[in-house]
Amino acid sequence: QAEEGKRRLGLSGGQQDRDGEQWRVGLAATLRKAIEAGHLRLTFQPKMCIGTGEVTHVEALVRWLDPERGPIFPDQFIPLAEANGSISDLTRFVVAEAADMIARLRANGLTTGVAVNISTNDLADPAFVEFVAETLRRTGIPPDALTLEITETGLIEGRTEALVSARRLKALGLRLSIDDYGTGQSTMAYVEQFPADELKIDMSFVMRMTDDRANAILVKSAIDLGHALGLSVVAEGVETAGILTALREQRCDYAQGYHISRPLEADDLFTYLSASREGVLRSAA
Ligand code: C2E
Ligand code: MG
Ligand code: MG
Ligand code: MG
Repeated sequence: QAEEGKRRLGLSGGQQDRDGEQWRVGLAATLRKAIEAGHLRLTFQPKMCIGTGEVTHVEALVRWLDPERGPIFPDQFIPLAEANGSISDLTRFVVAEAADMIARLRANGLTTGVAVNISTNDLADPAFVEFVAETLRRTGIPPDALTLEITETGLIEGRTEALVSARRLKALGLRLSIDDYGTGQSTMAYVEQFPADELKIDMSFVMRMTDDRANAILVKSAIDLGHALGLSVVAEGVETAGILTALREQRCDYAQGYHISRPLEADDLFTYLSASREGVLRSAA
């Protein structure tokens, strides 16, 4: 994916490998400077309601566009940022940008919600809840327009602390989502206790569900579990029409993936949402 991004922006690879180690060491300071310099920005990937074709939510995915290196993808720097503590700066940036985007969407007559990814470190930090509350006050957005996604693995690592923070965030009126479901070791009891609104099935299962029976069964049981707990269920990594059809048959609620749309730049998101709203209105008429 990084290679593809570099190609698209006409950049050559290689540099990353040469000074990769040095870069890793200086990451915390570099990340903070990159945020200040405006080198980080969000892209937005639609989550489509399978029943109506409507895009009611989008997921914000961070991109780091270094003027010299080219695009750096989250899988390359999020784990490092988590390890050295600079993740909290990143999360605050992403939450603030997402809230501003929700406000901009609403100013344009669009009630689309925005989801952001947060890490266990954020749930362990009591100041994070206060930051979110302050962001809601600053922007005046309805709290349920903002969804926080936390991976199943992150939930397990955080345990008790995660549950306490999650309950406080839930009390603010936010939506909470369990991301990459199926990859962690959560127990039914834990998932049941967690105040989630949404369950996202990890793409590794979704991508193989049409050609592998074990994966099909796993996806189906995740959908049924989510519904039994009253959660809305999202399948990520929907790359083909065949997978979308299979998900519809199994009553999955939302689909996200390249078959629906790639992550979009802010301007392209406005165009996409306006066009998809027209399309939904037309097909309903
Ligand atoms: P995620 O939250 O599970 O996000 C889905 C990832 O899958 C995204 O990769 C997205 O671009 C990619 N994807 C979406 N549809 C498809 C598809 O149909 N096929 C395939 N092969 N891939 C698809 P991305 O943007 O590289 O992000 C990777 C991970 O990095 C995210 O996984 C999330 O865990 C993390 N991440 C991204 N942005 C942030 C952020 O702002 N904060 C934190 N803490 N983590 C972030
Ligand atoms: Mg996510
Ligand atoms: Mg995910
Ligand atoms: Mg993932």
